[in-house]
Amino acid sequence: MWWRMRGWRGEAGGLPSYDAQVMTIDSTNNLLGLQGMDAGSIRALLAPAARLMENRRAFGRPLAGRTVVNLFFEDSTRTRVSFTVAAQALGAGVVQFGAGGSSVSKGETLLDTARTVEAMGVDALVVRHSSAGAAGLIAEHVGAPVINAGDGAHEHPTQGLLDILSLAQSHDRLGGFDLSGLTVAIVGDILHSRVARSAIAGLTTLGAAVVCVGPAALCPDGIASLGCSVERDLDAVIGSVDAVMALRVQFERGAELGDGADGDPGDAGAYAMRYGITSERADRMKAGAVVMHPGPMNRGLEIESAVADGPRCVALKQVAAGVPVRMAVLLHSIGGDVGAGVAVT
Ligand code: ASP
Repeated sequence: MWWRMRGWRGEAGGLPSYDAQVMTIDSTNNLLGLQGMDAGSIRALLAPAARLMENRRAFGRPLAGRTVVNLFFEDSTRTRVSFTVAAQALGAGVVQFGAGGSSVSKGETLLDTARTVEAMGVDALVVRHSSAGAAGLIAEHVGAPVINAGDGAHEHPTQGLLDILSLAQSHDRLGGFDLSGLTVAIVGDILHSRVARSAIAGLTTLGAAVVCVGPAALCPDGIASLGCSVERDLDAVIGSVDAVMALRVQFERGAELGDGADGDPGDAGAYAMRYGITSERADRMKAGAVVMHPGPMNRGLEIESAVADGPRCVALKQVAAGVPVRMAVLLHSIGGDVGAGVAVT
C-alpha cells in the first residue's frame, strides 16, 4: 500500500507545515528498521507523531475494531506498554503475547508461533526478539504488517523515531525535522545496542552529526561505517554537543567492559569515571543541550542519579514521545480512516 499524507498545515504553532507537498511512503507496511529509509519517509512518520504529541485525539479512533498483537519474545517495560497505549488510543484492541507461558516452551518455532497468531485474523504484529532479523523473518512469512519492537542488537526503529522527535522538540526542529547543525554523542555500549543503530541511521539521514563515544570493547572503530565518527574521550566532546545519549551496558548480550588494556575501563568503577554522565560533565554541556537515555537506566554506571533526575535529562519526555510515534507507525502500517489532514490511499 502507498501511504499518502496531504496538506499538513501546522495549525498548532511550530508543527510541520507540508502544505504544498504530497508525501509518500513506499513500503510494505512493515517497519523493520530506519537503516535505508529516506528522509521523506522518516519525516512522514514524524509529522503525524508531532501532531499526535500535541493532541492524542487529533485523528480520532481510526483503528476501532482492529487488533494489534504484541508478540514479545524478550522482556520489555516501556516498549510494550507504549505500543499498548498507542494502539488503544487509536481504538484498536491489543493482545499481549509473551514467550513465557506460551507454546514456545513446548518447542514451537518462531514462525509457527507468528503464523498461528496471524491465522486468528490480526491487523498487525509488533515483534520483539533477542535475535537480529527475527522481525524481518516473520515479515517474510506473514501477510499482516510487522513492526519491529527491537531485534537483538540490530534495530529498534520506533525508539529511533522517538529519539528524533524528542531531540527535535528540545531544539525547536519540529517544523520539518531538519536536524542539520546538531551533533549528538551516543555514549557507551554501542556494539550491542539496537537503539544506537536506529538512532544513528535516523539522525544522520535527517542531517545531524553523530559521534559514538566509548571504550574499544563496546565502541569499536568499525562502528564508523554506520555513518558516525568514533571518539574515545568523552571529555573531549561533552562541551560541544547538542545532546548526549547514554546507553546501558548490555551485559545480557555479552558486553564486557574490556580488560583494562588499551585504555579500556576493565571494571564498572573505571567505566563510570570515564564514560558516565556525571553532574560535573552535565554542567560542562552547552546551554540547551540535553541528556537522553532510552531506559532502563543503570544509575551510577552510565548515568549519575542527579543527572537522570536533573533538568537536562529528557528521558521521560522520550518515553512520552514514544506513544505518538507508535500511534503514527500503527496508522501507517494498518491504515484506516485517519481523518482530516491525512488521507490513506
Ligand atoms: N530499552 C532499550 C532496548 O530495548 C535499551 C536497553 O535495553 O538498554 O534496546
